[in-house]
Amino acid sequence: MKERLEELIHIFEEIANNPKKMVEDYKKETGKEVIGVMPVYTPEEIIHAAGCLPIGLWGGKKEISKARAYLPPFACSIMQTVMELEIEGTYDILDAVLFSVPCDTLKCLSQKWKGKSPVIIFTHPQNRVIEGANIYLKREYETVKEELEKILGRNITNEDLKESIKIYNENRKTMREFVEIAAQYPQIIDPIIRHNIIKSRWFIRKEKHTAYVKELINELKKEPIIPWDGKKVILTGIMAEPKELLEIFKDEKIAIVGDDLAQESRQFRGDIPENGEDVLYNMTKWWQNLEGCSLATDTNKVRGEMLINMCESVKADAVIVCMMKFCDPEEFDYPIYHREFSEAGIKNISIEVDLEVSSFEQIRTRLQTFKDIL
Ligand code: SF4
Repeated sequence: MKERLEELIHIFEEIANNPKKMVEDYKKETGKEVIGVMPVYTPEEIIHAAGCLPIGLWGGKKEISKARAYLPPFACSIMQTVMELEIEGTYDILDAVLFSVPCDTLKCLSQKWKGKSPVIIFTHPQNRVIEGANIYLKREYETVKEELEKILGRNITNEDLKESIKIYNENRKTMREFVEIAAQYPQIIDPIIRHNIIKSRWFIRKEKHTAYVKELINELKKEPIIPWDGKKVILTGIMAEPKELLEIFKDEKIAIVGDDLAQESRQFRGDIPENGEDVLYNMTKWWQNLEGCSLATDTNKVRGEMLINMCESVKADAVIVCMMKFCDPEEFDYPIYHREFSEAGIKNISIEVDLEVSSFEQIRTRLQTFKDIL
């Protein structure tokens, strides 16, 4: 592997594993604010247009104790850890936190936020078919913008928003290219490196991330493509963490050649239209066009078909369902696409994602057996 490629992989690893440092560095270098964005979808472009750093709050591997006082034990694993970190004061460094509330747990957490940073809450319309939904969401985005302007004490112009949308679209396009290229180099881009590269986009400004990823793609293309003698899979779910989980994939030579994770590819599957002057309205189209996500109501339930097509196009051996513990929206989707997988002959297995767990041997055994079956 060439030296620069190794350096870039290391840069992504540093960013993905040190969000606190990224926040501190950004504040020191720019004097600007950092705004936390809760999973799963927020109009980050508005924050970016204000010159701030939007930073993803995805919890982390953690033992839960204090959060139990505020959340029921059956709240999803990710929000338990977010709450624990919040109580410990980890997020007090943020200048505000932006919440969308598409599930009950997020609704609950947005109302129980105990941190020092002010909270901005908005709602995505779940009827995404009618035009009224776009008008409603545009009004919600206007409120987000107004509240942010109040907190920051400066205005966000239409020109700034246009520029930010362009930067985000460029990042999304680059990430789609990365995912495709990475699948050709599983010997270099192993599951942990792939995750670091994608996750790091949550912790630095997108223009900087795009530049690094473009450079990495160029470096990767200089490497020879070597046939892969392991298995190839697609991941679906909210996220595939912690690192110990991905280590099993790496150890077992199971390459991740595509994903439908909310933390990863679902973020950059589509773009925001760049035509016209009504920028906030254009941003609503992204939500309206989002398909195959458990958080965006879809009466046609296209997720199964989408995953089956993805399997065929990347020649994956199977789909691994990374089921976030106690995530209702994801659990509701599962029986539907599981049946469709059976009908289409798609091999699949569901593993539980629990950020609190410390032993991964059960998952390792299941994945080893599944690999043998494949
Ligand atoms: S969508 Fe699922 S994982 Fe995300 S906050 Fe809601 S319940 Fe938790």
